[in-house]
Amino acid sequence: MKKLSVVLPAYNEELMISKTCEVLREVLSEAGISYELVLVNDGSRDGTWKEILEAGKKDANILGVQFSRNFGKEAAVFAGLAQAEGDVVAVMDCDLQHPPETLVSMYRLWEEGYEVIEGVKSSRGKEGFLHKKSAGFFYGIMSKATKVDMQNASDFKMMDRKVVDSILSMPERNMFFRATSSWVGYRTAYVKFEVQEREAGESKWSAWSLIKYAFTNIVAFTTVPLQFVTAAGGICFICSMILIIYSLIQYFSGHAVEGYSTTIIVLLLIGSAIMMSLGIIGYYIGKIYEEVKRRPRYIISKIIHGDEDVSHKTNHDIN
Ligand code: UDP
Ligand code: MG
Repeated sequence: MKKLSVVLPAYNEELMISKTCEVLREVLSEAGISYELVLVNDGSRDGTWKEILEAGKKDANILGVQFSRNFGKEAAVFAGLAQAEGDVVAVMDCDLQHPPETLVSMYRLWEEGYEVIEGVKSSRGKEGFLHKKSAGFFYGIMSKATKVDMQNASDFKMMDRKVVDSILSMPERNMFFRATSSWVGYRTAYVKFEVQEREAGESKWSAWSLIKYAFTNIVAFTTVPLQFVTAAGGICFICSMILIIYSLIQYFSGHAVEGYSTTIIVLLLIGSAIMMSLGIIGYYIGKIYEEVKRRPRYIISKIIHGDEDVSHKTNHDIN
């Protein structure tokens, strides 16, 4: 029988773990889908791991992965994908904001032969005004940069084993999961879902973390910002040509351009353009540095399967 793995990254979700596991068990058993839940505890500071152990005692289909510290959601998703053994793997938040019923419709689409089933937000759910605005703004930029519509894209997806293996075979450390699943291609279907309200706990995204997320992902996905530097250089060059010709004409016709202020304005403008360009280039160099260090994406300290400790399966080579 085919098995579905559901990857659930969890960071400070002690209030949600048991509820989520229960709801998923209900929904999936009712639909007659054999499943495994891969709960990745992303270095939570609360009782999330204890809750995962509890859930494992009740359900042998639970795989719990404990990180040595917080590595971020992206890393948690990857660890989950690497540990998942199912023929088809879904990724969803463990705060039940992604409706479990949608999993079943995704699974049916997979049975029909689709290899990637993307969850698309039909609305963004209830979010604060500032959050909505900043998210909208950055997803707008990211959509342009990655050429993938990010506005309504989500991390809620289901992927065939082939797709998971393709994603896992990509060597880069800084991967943008949301766009990568579309980058790999394959036969794709889209399922609309309504973002649910978070029942307990709170969102881990601040406006600042969203900004960082946007920059990291743009740089991870595209080199377009580097072309901005070239473009800015081109514009500066054209402007300077005009200015040079203008100044020379002025000079030869006997009234030279006023000295000090013009010089300082031009100098300052060029200086800031150069520094900003260096900043963009520097950011890329920083990211290249991070990549060439080839540090693991995450470090697993413990793995449980049901109520059994299978930490010996911790394989640092795979990530
Ligand atoms: N998450 C994680 N590591 C982090 C931050 C978040 O694994 O460093 C998980 C979190 O537990 C949740 C999912 O990522 O399952 C989405 O997080 P959240 O609900 O805070 O984001 P939002 O739904 O507000 O976008
Ligand atoms: Mg959430």
